[in-house]
Amino acid sequence: MSEDRQPDFETREVHAGVRPDPVTGAILTPIYQSTTYVQESVDQYMAKGYSYSRSGNPTVTALEEKITSLENGLGSACFATGMAATSSTMMALLNAGDHCILSDVVYGGTHRLSTRILTRFGVSYSFVDTSSPSSVKNAIQDNTRMIFTETPANPTLKLTDIAAISEIARARSIPHVVDNTFLTPYFQRPLDLGADVSLHSTTKFMEGHNVSVGGSITAADEGMLENIRFVRNCLGSNMSPMVAFYTLQGCKTMSTRLKAQSANALAVARFLETHNMVERVAYPGLNSFPQKTLADRQSSGYGSMLWFEVKGGVASGKKLMDTLKLWSLAENLGSVESLVTHSVTMTHADMPREERMAAGITDGLVRLSAGLETAEDLIIDLKQALDGL
Ligand code: PLP
Repeated sequence: MSEDRQPDFETREVHAGVRPDPVTGAILTPIYQSTTYVQESVDQYMAKGYSYSRSGNPTVTALEEKITSLENGLGSACFATGMAATSSTMMALLNAGDHCILSDVVYGGTHRLSTRILTRFGVSYSFVDTSSPSSVKNAIQDNTRMIFTETPANPTLKLTDIAAISEIARARSIPHVVDNTFLTPYFQRPLDLGADVSLHSTTKFMEGHNVSVGGSITAADEGMLENIRFVRNCLGSNMSPMVAFYTLQGCKTMSTRLKAQSANALAVARFLETHNMVERVAYPGLNSFPQKTLADRQSSGYGSMLWFEVKGGVASGKKLMDTLKLWSLAENLGSVESLVTHSVTMTHADMPREERMAAGITDGLVRLSAGLETAEDLIIDLKQALDGL
């Protein structure tokens, strides 16, 4: 192997950031469960890189190195949750009087943070259809200091052309932050497409086992990274070493899980298209998906998220969700367990109805996160629930 050849993604997801423990040889990075680090002398303060676990922790550092390698970034910062990553990034890059463009379809918590919290600190937001680059261009104001997109978006899966929006942002020196939670760096790398920050709820596919909540950002620019880390230290929104440990292990199987979960999602989506009780199905891997060409261009896979609407409206949707056995009715996504979510009453409950409807988050939308069970079992369960409507 040539010396300067970068190992493949699958190799890096196992090995990047991790080296045998220098004291014991333990193959897994230990959980450095310590608040503080003893210093050799006043003059050698921070000689080993750590002072206090809010400012930095070796287990968290190992995870940050791994994510940086997978996202092809300059550096990463890990957070207590995905929302801690989003709030810290917004607080680092936005000031009172600034304006931020946000995808009109985003995770409900991002919408809530923007409209209910950060507006109180003088930041204004425009919710824009970021699938249309010209709409983004037209929404830019003199004081626009951030474009924040989520693609595929939760829950409608609307896609944003990362390269096109990054080009518009770069021309005006506006940072472009991409929430990459739904596809992970295995399928989509926003920084390679010109974005400045790639953000994750590591709670989802990165950790992948419904064990922990966490978040991360990876930046392409040193100044931006330092700024976000500074805010993390001030807010105390850092990831714990235990969560970093779980996420380090989860990341090692990310590509394997995503390949299998995406294959399940495609099989489930194809089945749903054939059922007479299904009104419509959305999955970026289906030929019927309106933005399939963009999906093929900017990502190497379609992920494990899909949604559908049943005939008979909300009442039918609720009955279906209540009669599924293998699919758990739950608020998470991206785990090895298959999950079903009613976005309107769960993840997007705080979003005003008109805004929700305008963004395509309809009352009957049933969101699915395909797990690692067999496609056959998942389809049998959906069929019995749909047949019973
Ligand atoms: N971004 C997306 C796309 C999400 O779906 C979520 C949570 O569902 C978040 C961010 C927030 O992550 P967390 O729940 O880890 O705070």
